[in-house]
Amino acid sequence: AGARDRGDGRAPRGHVVLFPLPFQGHLSPMLQLARALHARGLAATVLHTAYNAPDAPAHPELAFVAVPSADAIARALAAAPRDGIAKIMALNAAIEASGCARDALASLMSGPERPACLVIDAALPGAQKAAAELGLPTIVLHTGSAAAFRLFRSYAMLREKGYLPAKESELNRPVEEMPPLRVSDLFDPSKYFNEEMANKILALSTETTTNSSGTVVNTFEALETPELRSVRDELGATIPVFAIGPLHKLTSNGDRSSLLDQDRSCIEWLDTKEPGSVLYVSFGSVVMVSQDEFKEVAWGLANSGRPFLWVVRPGLVIGVSGKSELPEGFVEAVEGRCKVVDWAPQTEVLAHHAVGGFWTHNGWNSTLESIYEGVPMLSRPIFGDQLVTARYVQETWQIGFRVEGKLERGKIEEAIRRLMEGEEGAEVKQRADELKKKILICLKNGGSTQQAIDKLVDHMLSL
Ligand code: UDP
Repeated sequence: AGARDRGDGRAPRGHVVLFPLPFQGHLSPMLQLARALHARGLAATVLHTAYNAPDAPAHPELAFVAVPSADAIARALAAAPRDGIAKIMALNAAIEASGCARDALASLMSGPERPACLVIDAALPGAQKAAAELGLPTIVLHTGSAAAFRLFRSYAMLREKGYLPAKESELNRPVEEMPPLRVSDLFDPSKYFNEEMANKILALSTETTTNSSGTVVNTFEALETPELRSVRDELGATIPVFAIGPLHKLTSNGDRSSLLDQDRSCIEWLDTKEPGSVLYVSFGSVVMVSQDEFKEVAWGLANSGRPFLWVVRPGLVIGVSGKSELPEGFVEAVEGRCKVVDWAPQTEVLAHHAVGGFWTHNGWNSTLESIYEGVPMLSRPIFGDQLVTARYVQETWQIGFRVEGKLERGKIEEAIRRLMEGEEGAEVKQRADELKKKILICLKNGGSTQQAIDKLVDHMLSL
C-alpha cells in the first residue's frame, strides 16, 4: 500500500497532515492515529524535524515530510536542557522562528491534495499558529488520559479553591471536584524547578485545545466515562472530543514506532518461564532514578524471589550517561531468575503468558498497554499525569497497587509479593481481566472506539 492510495488502488477520501511531538510517548500514539486514519481511507502525511525522526520504512502506508530547517531544529532541540518541558518549549520556539511548519503546510496546501486539517500534539502550539495563518483547521491529540486532560484544564479552579499551591499538611486532601484525586496527585508548578515554564506548558495545551476544531483522546469510553463527560461539557459542541483508544491496537503491529532498538532476546527468555510468574519492570523513556533508588530497586527485585524482566534504559540512572552498572553481587543473587535489557518490545512482553505483573511509572501508553493485556500493575509515578494515572489504577479501576514513599528494598519486596501472590493479588488480577473484556468490546466492529474513528473522519472531512 502506498501513502497516496488506500492500499487497494482507490483514491483517498481526503488528506490529513499530522505533526507529532518527537518523544516516544507522544510519537507512537500519533503514528498509530495516522495509520488508523489511513485504514479509514484517508491519505496521511506526517511532518517531522530531524530530532527523533520517525522511521519512515516501518510505516509504508504513511507519507513523511521533513520540515524545512529540520536539521537546524534538531540541533536546537539537542542543545536545549535534558528536561522534557524545556525541549518542548525549544521546539515550539524553533518552529515559530523558522516558519518551517508554515512553509511545509503551505506547500502541501498548494499541492494536488489540499489537506482537510492538521493534527497536532497538544503541546505544539507553534504548529497550530502556522496552520491558523493559512486557514487550516487543527485537531489536537491528547496522548494522556481524559482524567489528566480534565485536570490540566482545571488549574484556575484548583488555585481558586486553595488546592494549589499544595500545602504539606494537605497532601492527602481529596480534590472533591475530581474524585478520586488527592492534592498529592496534582502536578504542582510551584514545586517544579522552573515554575514559569511549568505554568507555560499547562497553559499551552489548554490553549491548543481551545483553539482547535476537535480533540482526540487516547482512551476508551468505558474506561473514563465521567471524565469524558466532563471535558465534553466544558468544551461544548464546537470542539468535539473523540475517545479513540487504545491507539496501539487500532491497526495491526501497533508497536512500530520505537526510537530505541528493542532487545527481542527477552521473549525467548519469557518462553522458558511459567505462566503469570514474571514481573516486568520498566519506567518508560523519560523517568530517571537516583543511584540509591536504583540499588534499592535491584535488591527489592532480587529479594522478592520472583523471576523478573527489567528494562534498564541507558540514561535511567541520574548522573550515569550510558549503561548503569548493576550492584555488586546482584547478578549472582538472581541467577536464572532475571533478565535485564536496555529496551524491550513492551507490547509483546505484556502480551506474553509468562508475565503476571508490571511495575510501571504509569506513563499513559504503558498503562493502556497493560490494561489491554489484563496485566495488573505496581505503580511508581514520578511526575505530571503519571500521578493521576496511578491514583486511578489503585482506586478507580483497582487493578494495581502503588509503591508509596521512599524506595526501599524491604517495601519493594513486600509490594511485589502483594501483587504477585495471595488473595489481594488474585482480586486485582480478576479486575484486570474484566477491564480487558471491556477494552475488547470498544475495539470490536461497532464498538465505541470504532464508531469514534468513523465520526472523527467525517468531522475532518467536513471542516
Ligand atoms: N517502551 C518500549 N520498550 C521499553 C519501555 C517502553 O517499547 O522497554 C514503550 C512502551 O511500550 C510505551 C512507550 O515506550 O509505548 C512509553 O510511553 P509511556 O507513555 O508509557 O511513558 P513515557 O516514556 O512517555 O514516560
